[in-house]
Amino acid sequence: MNQQNIDNFNTEKILIVRCGEVALKGMNKPYFERVLVERIRKNLANVKGAKITRKEGLIFVRVPTDSNMDEVTREVSKVFGVSSVSPAVEAASDIDAIGNEAVKVMNNLIEERGIRTFKVEAKRADKSFPVKSPDIARRIGASILKGCKVLKVDVHNPDCRIFVDLRADRTYIYEDKIHGLGGLPLGTNGKGLVLLSGGIDSPVAAWMMAKRGMLIDAVHFHSYPYTSPRAQQKVEELAEIVSSYCGRINMTVINLLPIQEAIVTNCPEDETTILVRRFMMRIAEKIAEKKRDMMLITGENLGQVASQTAEALVVTDQSVSMPVMRPLIGMDKVDIMDLAKEIGTYEKSIEPYEDCCTVFLPKHPVTKPRLEKILKSEEKLDVESLVDAAVASAEEKTVG
Ligand code: ATP
Ligand code: MG
Repeated sequence: MNQQNIDNFNTEKILIVRCGEVALKGMNKPYFERVLVERIRKNLANVKGAKITRKEGLIFVRVPTDSNMDEVTREVSKVFGVSSVSPAVEAASDIDAIGNEAVKVMNNLIEERGIRTFKVEAKRADKSFPVKSPDIARRIGASILKGCKVLKVDVHNPDCRIFVDLRADRTYIYEDKIHGLGGLPLGTNGKGLVLLSGGIDSPVAAWMMAKRGMLIDAVHFHSYPYTSPRAQQKVEELAEIVSSYCGRINMTVINLLPIQEAIVTNCPEDETTILVRRFMMRIAEKIAEKKRDMMLITGENLGQVASQTAEALVVTDQSVSMPVMRPLIGMDKVDIMDLAKEIGTYEKSIEPYEDCCTVFLPKHPVTKPRLEKILKSEEKLDVESLVDAAVASAEEKTVG
C-alpha cells in the first residue's frame, strides 16, 4: 500500500451495511443484493455525494465527511433487507496503520463518552494475512494502550468493544452494530393491495408485507359527506409514513356511501357490517386486478371485533377469489400497537377522525354470519352494478 493510497483513507465517512437474510438466498443472492443497493440509493437520494458499493458480502456506503451520519444511518437502517449497520473508519491492512486509526477512534470515544475500559475483537477475512485474529486483537490493543493512556483493557465488561475487520486491501474499525429492520428488499416479492383505513392495524399490515419484499398499493374507502375531507387527509398522512419504508404508494380512494345506503335500505340491519366488508373486498379485488396486484392485504386480526370472528372472516373471503393476506391475524392488540409505535404510525392512527365503517354501525352486528343467509340478503342488491359504479368513481392519488 503506497502512501498516496493510505492518504485517501478517511476522506469520507463509511457505513458498513450487512444484509442478513438476503445473504441466505443462494443463487439469487446477487439479484437480492442488487435490489437492496438500489433501495439504499433511493433512501439516500437527499444525501449529496453518497457512493454505494458491494464487496465481499458487505455493502459500503461512503459519504463526504461533512454529511450527517445519524441521518445516513437512520435512512439505511430502515431499508428492508438490511440486518445491521456500523459507522466505521477504514485503514490499510497493516498492523501499524490499523493501530493508528484505532487510537483516533478511541480518543474520540474518550472525549464523547468518557470511556475508560475497552476490548478489541478482530476478524481476519483475509486468511493470507500473516497475523492471526487473536494476535491482531492483542497488537491493536497494545497500540491503543500506548496511544490512550487513560484506557485499560477489560475483556469481561468493557465500556467499549471495538471490532477490527481485516480484509485483503482494507481494514474496517467500528464500534456499534446497529440493528436494521431485516426482511427482504422491496420489489423482490410481488405487489399487493392493502385496504387502508385510518386505524392502527392496516398500516402495520402493509408494513409487514412490505418488509417481506412486497410492493404496496392501497385502497381507501370513505363515506363523504358523512366522513370529512380531514379524515381522508389523515389516511393520506398515514400512507405517507408507511411510504417512507415501502416506497411510493398509489392509493385509490372510493366513496362507499351509495353502497352503504343500498345495504341499509334493503338488507337486515345486523348484517350491515359483514355486507359492507364483502363489498369492500369485491371492489378491492377489481382495483387489484387493474393494478396487477397479486393479493389483497387487510389489518384484520382474529376475534378483535365482530367483523373479525372466524365465521365472519370466512364469509368475507368468500366474496373474492384473490388471496387475502392478514399478516396480523394471530397477534395480540398490544403487540400490534407496539409495532405501530415503532414504525411511527401509531400517533397518527389514534387521531380521532370518523371512519366509513362507523357511519352505519348496527347496534347488534351478527358475529357468526352464515354464507347462505348473506347471499340471500345480497340478492336484494344489484351487486355487480354497485361494484362497477364504485370502481368507476375511483380517485387516484400518489403518496410518498
Ligand atoms: P384498522 O385498525 O386497520 O382500521 P380495525 O381493527 O379498525 O382495523 P375494521 O375496521 O373491522 O378493523 O377493519 C378491518 C380491516 O378492513 C382493516 O384493517 C382494513 O384493512 C380494512 N378497512 C376497514 N375500513 C377501511 C376503510 N375505510 N378503507 C379501507 N380499508 C378499510
Ligand atoms: Mg377500522
